Amino acid sequence: MSQTAATELSVAEFASRARAWLADNMPRLDPQQPPRNGRDDEGAWQRARELQRRLFEGGFAGICFPREYGGLGLDIGYQKAFDIESDGYEMPLILNVPTFTICCATLLDTGSEEQKREHISAALRGDEVLVQLLSEPSGGSDLAGLITRADRDGDGWVISGAKTWSTSAFAADYGLLLARTDVTVPKHDGLTMFLMPIDAPGVTLRRIEQVDGSNEFCEEFFDGLRLGDDAVVGEVNKGWDVASRLLFHERRAVGQGSEFASGRGAERTEMAAGDFLTLAADAGTADDPVTQDKIGRVLARRMVRDCLVDHVGRAMRTGALPPAAGSLIRLFHSDVTFLEVDTATEVAGPLGVVGPAADEAQLLKVGKRYLSRQTVALGGGSNEMARNVIAERVLGLPREYAADRGVPFNQVRHNRA
Ligand SMILES: Cc1cc2nc3c(=O)[nH]c(=O)nc-3n(C[C@H](O)[C@H](O)[C@H](O)COP(=O)(O)OP(=O)(O)OC[C@H]3O[C@@H](n4cnc5c(N)ncnc54)[C@H](O)[C@@H]3O)c2cc1C
Repeated sequence: MSQTAATELSVAEFASRARAWLADNMPRLDPQQPPRNGRDDEGAWQRARELQRRLFEGGFAGICFPREYGGLGLDIGYQKAFDIESDGYEMPLILNVPTFTICCATLLDTGSEEQKREHISAALRGDEVLVQLLSEPSGGSDLAGLITRADRDGDGWVISGAKTWSTSAFAADYGLLLARTDVTVPKHDGLTMFLMPIDAPGVTLRRIEQVDGSNEFCEEFFDGLRLGDDAVVGEVNKGWDVASRLLFHERRAVGQGSEFASGRGAERTEMAAGDFLTLAADAGTADDPVTQDKIGRVLARRMVRDCLVDHVGRAMRTGALPPAAGSLIRLFHSDVTFLEVDTATEVAGPLGVVGPAADEAQLLKVGKRYLSRQTVALGGGSNEMARNVIAERVLGLPREYAADRGVPFNQVRHNRA
């Protein structure tokens, strides 16, 4: 389907075209053989790139991205219709976060024309994966207090420092890197965002093993990494403006409210209603009214979340709520996920930890997922920081005290190297 054709279609016509195209071109999901979508699996990334290429060639990539950068330039109603149609198909869901919903969305708002033309379209074609390099070993919540430096050297920059918790950086081509370019001004005023090739000389990348055995997260060490001025996103020393946009997109993405995500669900990690019932049957409690109540509570809370995502998303688009309101859906998503994971663990009971061999796969998955339960309270900024943002920037409550406010960064007292 050509881009012009897409813009002339109603949502219903677009959905009908998508239905036919998906049936002919995308692999149907087989519950007996779930696709490889483990984010720490190299093969899953290759597969995602291949599926993304198919979407692009079929004219269904980047539905809400502007046409000049390779998208379709349609509004969120079209994306939602496509998401419903694509539900039973294998989709490149791991490209949604952070490539499309965070990195490309931020480039769209703040990047140069060349950066947008080159990188957004490459990502939509399945040729580039982008990640965010923000958090540092010294802490992630005080992002503006980061210490990785970018020093002027001739007509370029030399980067030194370290980043950590970079989701899927091992599989990426480019990263959005926030670094300090001026230490003589208060912390928010001396930062610059760069778009850097992950495999550049001067970068050492290591994968971090998690408690559940996965190793998707990475840490990067920069020693003599050289970047040109064309790597600057936005303006030098205005990196906080770019980072603020990035955080806005990240909160909406984590809260499941981004129009740039394609396909439904957080990579299908969410348990379906049927999965809960199977779990209860396996645990022998399917007829227990208390178990049924608990499962019902999760499903009802999810419906509330979906309504909240729609409501807050609309209010942010019309300006009725400020961009910081993305923290509302990000926080609620974390609460719902906690309830879901806790309920699944309760329903599985001891079998979620040690089960009879036949039930192991499904039941033990529940126990394993519990190990990474806390990640939703940290990814995209911690729950506490989300509450701070809601208090200060949505409700207008007084700002938290900060000893470093307005103080040049090189005069701030801290115990860092
Ligand atoms: C799933 C996941 C994906 C992630 N992906 C990325 C990524 O791709 N790129 C990246 O750069 N980072 C990523 N991160 C890192 C994430 O951004 C940080 O974990 C987060 O910002 C918190 O930083 P920290 O872990 O250093 O905790 P710290 O900042 O050290 O905070 C420790 C604790 O203190 C609390 N705290 C700190 N300051 C305050 C305050 N002012 N008021 C109240 N409480 C406070 C925090 O809430 C937290 O509970 C990811 C993390 C997760 C879990």
